[in-house]
Amino acid sequence: MNDCLFCKIAAGQIPAEIVLDSRDALAFRDLDPQAPQHVLIIPKRHISRLADLRGDDAPAVGSLMTQAVKLAHDLGMDEAGYRLVINNGETAGQSVWHLHIHLLSGRPFHWPPG
Ligand code: AMP
Repeated sequence: MNDCLFCKIAAGQIPAEIVLDSRDALAFRDLDPQAPQHVLIIPKRHISRLADLRGDDAPAVGSLMTQAVKLAHDLGMDEAGYRLVINNGETAGQSVWHLHIHLLSGRPFHWPPG
């Protein structure tokens, strides 16, 4: 997608602090962190939102989730704990229309979320 911010980051056209670059996924630090550690994991292929996933996207989503969990481990978050969040739609807080998993760690998280 030409005008997608995260596609531009994936293409190297916009700078980001990249912490993972694999065949199908990219992870980079959030510009406006909501926790001491706040990373976004995205598929390199453009998918606008969770609700757009189809049945044959299951391997891609499984891969994304697996890489998020490995990244949490590699960034030393296992002991402190961490939260994975996907906002789907404006009301849920989605502001960038390219599927992303928020990986947050380094402070207590409350439930229910805000
Ligand atoms: P969401 O509101 O769930 O769509 O999350 C979008 C996230 O992208 C927010 O946490 C923003 O702070 C973050 N963000 C926006 N622009 C950038 C950027 N250029 N680099 C890194 N993170 C960004």
